[in-house]
Amino acid sequence: MSGFLFYHLQAKGFPHWGYDYWFKMDTQQVPDLFQEGAGYAWPGIPYGDPFEIYPGPNGPIDSIRWEVFAESLQDYQLLQTAGIPPDSPLLKDLKTYADFPKSEAWIDKTIAAIKKLSDRPVQFIANTGFRADHTGGNVKLRASGLDPSLQGSFFSNQFADAGQGATIMSHQNTQNHMDALKMPSAGVPSDTFLEDRRRKFHNDDSIEMFWEPNAVTDGDSIVHFRRADVIVTGDIFTTTQYPFIDIHNGGSVQGEIKALNDILNRTVYEHEEDGGTLVVPGHGYLSNEHEVLEYRDMVVIVRDRVRDMINKGATLEQVKAARLTADYDTRYGKSTGPWTTDMFVEAVYSGLKQPAAAASK
Ligand SMILES: [Zn+2]
Repeated sequence: MSGFLFYHLQAKGFPHWGYDYWFKMDTQQVPDLFQEGAGYAWPGIPYGDPFEIYPGPNGPIDSIRWEVFAESLQDYQLLQTAGIPPDSPLLKDLKTYADFPKSEAWIDKTIAAIKKLSDRPVQFIANTGFRADHTGGNVKLRASGLDPSLQGSFFSNQFADAGQGATIMSHQNTQNHMDALKMPSAGVPSDTFLEDRRRKFHNDDSIEMFWEPNAVTDGDSIVHFRRADVIVTGDIFTTTQYPFIDIHNGGSVQGEIKALNDILNRTVYEHEEDGGTLVVPGHGYLSNEHEVLEYRDMVVIVRDRVRDMINKGATLEQVKAARLTADYDTRYGKSTGPWTTDMFVEAVYSGLKQPAAAASK
């Protein structure tokens, strides 16, 4: 597709950051790229993203990514040779610069929706984790807001822009991950905490952030608005997929179960009614205690099934082949995309096999 797009946009070129970036991120160590293709930065960087070619004993080795790209350049050349003008009606369905990026429009819509609730500026943004699907709007959302508590404070002597923009809060490990991934500094949390709980009284509500270590990563938090009785869970709980347990960044099935139990320890429900604590999942629909309970039970059951097979000496391949999640797959399973059923089963398996390694990162 890129060939058509570049031709239509009359692009003169484009920067590709990783033709042969073979290092472990921010070091000069070269890992086995056939085993570890994300520079140890998954999921901030998808597998295969940092490079197009592999190092081989007799020179570079081709990749499917590289071939697909080469084909797109052939498309470009074909359009040129055929004399089709870049603004030809034949290419009218292609996106233009005005259509990019989609997330900006989404953020604008979100800011407009918040403004409808209140004419006061956004003062605080709580990040539940570091992944881009939960932090990608930080820069814009922060710029739309204001934190008067920082103006004229200790911080304003250190940073000229103190208080200009909302204050982004998160656990310290989330800030560390975002720094390591070189996310734009204006979108990196500046107000971080190391302890298990961070409290704040704001908008007549008591707001608590609880660090849930080693659940999906080592830096995730849930946010509880006590007065409104709403819990925002981030990726610890979703209604759409198996938990995204990222063992390379400190996630573990044990920590995930503990985090889900922590949510359940804080929820209240109204029998047969809609009342009670509202749970905002990382992905999916607005939920309550019942959905979190089902999800927790699912993770516990899958964990127990995998542990059973491990105790009987099963290999990862045997565990995957046993399809231990089959009864949940129609609801949560995926065979493609960034988080497949196999990846989840593998994360559970490796976490149970080497709990120390998963917890120590
Ligand atoms: Zn997510």
